[in-house]
Amino acid sequence: MCRHLAYLGPPTTLRELLFDPPHSLLRQSWLPRDMRGGGTINADGFGVGWYPGDGPPVRYRRAQPIWSDPTIAELAAVTSSGAVLAAVRSATVGMAIVDAAAAPFAEGRWLFSHNGVVRGWPDSMVPLAAALPVRDLLTLDVATDSALLWALVRDRLRAGVAPARAVAETVTSVATAAPGSRLNLLLTDGQRVIATTAGHALSLRATSDAVLLASEPHDDEPGWRAVPEGHLVLATASEVRQQPIETW
Ligand code: GLN
Repeated sequence: MCRHLAYLGPPTTLRELLFDPPHSLLRQSWLPRDMRGGGTINADGFGVGWYPGDGPPVRYRRAQPIWSDPTIAELAAVTSSGAVLAAVRSATVGMAIVDAAAAPFAEGRWLFSHNGVVRGWPDSMVPLAAALPVRDLLTLDVATDSALLWALVRDRLRAGVAPARAVAETVTSVATAAPGSRLNLLLTDGQRVIATTAGHALSLRATSDAVLLASEPHDDEPGWRAVPEGHLVLATASEVRQQPIETW
């Protein structure tokens, strides 16, 4: 299963977020502590999205292990942002290993990531996919469960549903259609982060002006806490709300 993180706070380099911590996302790509559902390492791709200014985010995604790409290491050293979403991928068996399958998925200001798997793929998703505009299906980034989850969330965002509710409704409907799915999602627009725990671990560290949500704590410093299973977190850099998914 993938490992992902989202950060909001004072501008920091991608290097400080992804590479420097003792149990960084880089290290989690080859020595994760908490893999579930059969994966061992996260070597099938990686991606990072950040906000260079007031405009939309920029992404860098590759279908190769993060440790094998010298460009991301160079880029990370000189790139700073106050909002970042990043992931390393362990592809579910049978799913394509291409750049476009690596999170974050994006539209406008939104960045999205999925850690987990949709059970019974693709048959279990036929009823939910059939409710999407055909155009969305024809323009999916890639035929993976994660890309379809993004299309389901995005459809609600486009319809004006509040972001936390859009994520909560998607998790609830997919969990009903495909029981046993693991649906840890991350969504950000650079101002707020929405995160779910549905089948996987998620840790949170909040200070007065920053919040970091990550599949695994990236160091042993105090301040990390586990988000309980079945919860949705809505966080800004200065405020965190956490409630059971179905109450949003
Ligand atoms: N199922 C998704 C994929 O294959 C996410 C995998 C994961 O969380 N490891 O892309």
